[in-house]
Amino acid sequence: MTLAERMEAVERKLAEACARSGRNRADIELIAVTKYVGVQETQQVLRHGLVHMGENRWQHAADKWNAVTGSGWDNDLANSPGGQAVWHFIGSLQTNKVKDVIGKFTYIHSLDRLSLAQAIARRAEQLGIVVPCFIQVNVSGEESKHGLPAEGLIPFARELAAFRHIRPVGLMTMAPLDAEGEQSRPVFRGLRELRGELNRSAVLEEPVNGLSMGMSGDFEIAVEEGATWLRLGTVLVGKS
Ligand SMILES: *Cc1c(COP(=O)(O)O)cnc(C)c1O
Repeated sequence: MTLAERMEAVERKLAEACARSGRNRADIELIAVTKYVGVQETQQVLRHGLVHMGENRWQHAADKWNAVTGSGWDNDLANSPGGQAVWHFIGSLQTNKVKDVIGKFTYIHSLDRLSLAQAIARRAEQLGIVVPCFIQVNVSGEESKHGLPAEGLIPFARELAAFRHIRPVGLMTMAPLDAEGEQSRPVFRGLRELRGELNRSAVLEEPVNGLSMGMSGDFEIAVEEGATWLRLGTVLVGKS
């Protein structure tokens, strides 16, 4: 399948999932996860009008980021930070990689501990920016998963509220590794319920709306459960 065909197929499924759940397509953003592909495919994704790009490791993203933001990309929007793309860091972030990522990636989806918040805030302050972050929660409780345990969310958010250079924008979760389709539903529903609890607790200055959940195998379920950001690799960008 070509990229255009994959995009069309995703849009068709999205439209159906929106219809089933009474949601608006406009309330859902697609992040094209480019981690499996190279520079050319990434530029192709941008030419097709997708602007949100997701990567999970800086080492794998660097060539693509440089090509899209630097002279390798001829779009007249190339002067904006990140070129015409908006970059999302979706993988677990080591504190010593923060300096590579902050200032290049607009959104961080994997904020899950205080030491990371401190490192992000320090770097953001140096750069004079505020970093929108999703708090990653390990809803499934799977041991291998990154993210805060559900019961740690509100205490963590209470501490985050003191960081002026971090703006919490929502919650992120990953379904268990081998889960597909319906098996992911309880995890996605759990994340939506946690967003409700967090907002009712009012520990953050402003309520958050974002729910970053749903990948190639379960994005329709995520839409039905309220996802606002889908992270799509295989099904949208493909694998090379
Ligand atoms: C790779 C990855 C995705 C996309 O995975 P697909 O199943 O190929 O859509 C989404 N989120 C994270 C955190 C990832 O690492």
